[in-house]
Amino acid sequence: MSMLRFFGCLILTSLVLYSSACRSTPQGGEAASLDVLATTTIIADVVRQVGGEAIHVSALLPVGTDPHAFSPTPQDIARVVQADLIFTNGAGLEEFLSSMIESAGSAEKVVDLSNGIKLISSAEDEGHQAGDPHVWTDPNNVLIWVQTITTALKNADPSNSSLYEQNAQHYREELTNLDAWIVAQVAQSPPEERVIVSDHRFFSYFARRYGFQQVEAIIPSFSSLAEPSARDLAALEDFIRQHQVRAILVGTSANPALAQRISQDTGIRLVTIYTGSLSAAGGEADNYLDYMRFNVRAIMSSLK
Ligand SMILES: [Zn+2]
Repeated sequence: MSMLRFFGCLILTSLVLYSSACRSTPQGGEAASLDVLATTTIIADVVRQVGGEAIHVSALLPVGTDPHAFSPTPQDIARVVQADLIFTNGAGLEEFLSSMIESAGSAEKVVDLSNGIKLISSAEDEGHQAGDPHVWTDPNNVLIWVQTITTALKNADPSNSSLYEQNAQHYREELTNLDAWIVAQVAQSPPEERVIVSDHRFFSYFARRYGFQQVEAIIPSFSSLAEPSARDLAALEDFIRQHQVRAILVGTSANPALAQRISQDTGIRLVTIYTGSLSAAGGEADNYLDYMRFNVRAIMSSLK
């Protein structure tokens, strides 16, 4: 063997050793194998809690994006083509989705997390026959997500089944604790004072679970893309005065112009919440559990 070939072999061997040593090794010594895409940052976080080190997960929508208003680029379609699995909220949240999945030819990789969840619908909201897509405002619906996610990951990657089961079990406990914490927070205000006004119809599932009697919105729709009429706005201002509403909850991705106008007309406060997206990594609401705690604190402060 020539010296040159000897060193060539040595370099090649060390490269192979180096690259395998650098991969994370979850249970069974398997390298992170699944490339998983989630539409929103909220879904990406929940999928990450179940998948742990065995998957690589990223969100299609950048932090701070309104999922109703998102329009994908050719690069986004390429990510859809490359992914092994795509978790979507479904129920009409991602209005861009069906045409994108069609152009990417990836329908069989899509896991629709609204499966198994009973949707709340409203006769007035004709554009969204499916119902309210914001199911995650009740952590009990996220428990159903966790079940669907666990099944999908196990089917796609059976070698890490027990890891996914363990992670799911741990996260279920965190969700159950979150639910109990919200019940305790909400109990501090009398039921007749539990009123929510938000930028669009966002809190149906939260309101049903935690006993909020009145839920109104500036945009009287499950989609932030709808536009309120002058009559809608006048009716909302009447509602605010009649029910002595103290604050409007405005999502970070909402256009604040209408909320500011109503605030000027009625003297009501504006309180910031997170709606369709988590905060940036390292921020105050960069995972689902902190996102819910942040919003619950905002809701409770809006009642005072
Ligand atoms: Zn929304």
